[in-house]
Amino acid sequence: MARMSSFVDNRGDAAYAEVLAEMAARAKAWHGPVVVVAHVDPDGDALGSSLALARALVTLGKDVTLPLSPASFLQFLAEPGELSGPLETLPNDTLLFVLDVGEPKRAAGAPLEGAAALFNIDHHGTNSRFGDLAVVEPGKAATAVLIKELIDALGVVWTPAIATPCLAGILMDTGNFRFGNTNKEALTVAGDLLETGVALGELTDRLQWRHPSYFALLGKVMSTVKFGYDGRLVYAKLTNEMRGDSADDDSDDFVGVIRYAEGAEVAVLLKERGDVVKASVRTRAGVSAQRICLELGGGGHVAAAGATLPGTMAEAEAKVLAAVGAELEREAVTSG
Ligand code: 5GP
Ligand code: MN
Repeated sequence: MARMSSFVDNRGDAAYAEVLAEMAARAKAWHGPVVVVAHVDPDGDALGSSLALARALVTLGKDVTLPLSPASFLQFLAEPGELSGPLETLPNDTLLFVLDVGEPKRAAGAPLEGAAALFNIDHHGTNSRFGDLAVVEPGKAATAVLIKELIDALGVVWTPAIATPCLAGILMDTGNFRFGNTNKEALTVAGDLLETGVALGELTDRLQWRHPSYFALLGKVMSTVKFGYDGRLVYAKLTNEMRGDSADDDSDDFVGVIRYAEGAEVAVLLKERGDVVKASVRTRAGVSAQRICLELGGGGHVAAAGATLPGTMAEAEAKVLAAVGAELEREAVTSG
């Protein structure tokens, strides 16, 4: 029997647009500083959503701080000096936006305590709707889809500078419109953003550039690929030793390579990071990555989730194999 202690709610709130409108009205009237944070190791959606919102707020004359530290392949989205280092405390009278953060302990860049107001905008079904105002819509392909709506509510004129990171968020969370979360709304919003003058071909190309050291590391990781559960699981490992001196922060999409192993319903990348192991899990065909990762103390979406495990690679591997096995068995029972 799977342990289900964490909050899971994959429904949205029909009245979310009213909450976004209230966020917009309060942000417009805000006189103090604004800080925008996202989840630790911000991905394209976390960074793109934050940059788009911050740029929109700057056009309204707000004093905005963006304490985000993205992987090197995403840094081109930000202007030099636009991102700041982590804040130890929040300035007085701060309006704090927390974007794409499924649970408070995943927020990075600034403490959540001490905000005069905290607005939480996210699309993770595991989000407990923390904060003074919260919009959590698991049906949205990306947090950036909600940010598009918030910026519309702010009444800001769209420019390529605001629209480009917003579209990058949608592109990255939908895998360039290939993943199962791609829906008509994501495509429509992307179309609207394109109309503002975003250079789509250049953006998708640039989002796929990787540091030269990426390719050697990819080769090492691919040489570890293994299968389990009659080919229903595919997994690979990235160890501290393989990483050596090379930058590893561009390795986030390795799991996106192995997920296409024919017959696989679950793909897992186990990444050693110092003395913990980060698991990235992707699923299809009714298997829940979210349930696997909740079992491991993490969280995420139904088809894409993650967890951080203390201990050695061998210990993490055993735990992950057990959690995957339990989910595959559960799925076999419930699907008849
Ligand atoms: P990734 O495997 O790309 O790091 O993450 C996949 C999804 O799961 C993302 O939406 C990410 O925010 C979420 N996620 C990754 N690791 C964790 C974790 O340790 N806890 C929670 N709650 N979510 C996670
Ligand atoms: Mn996201």
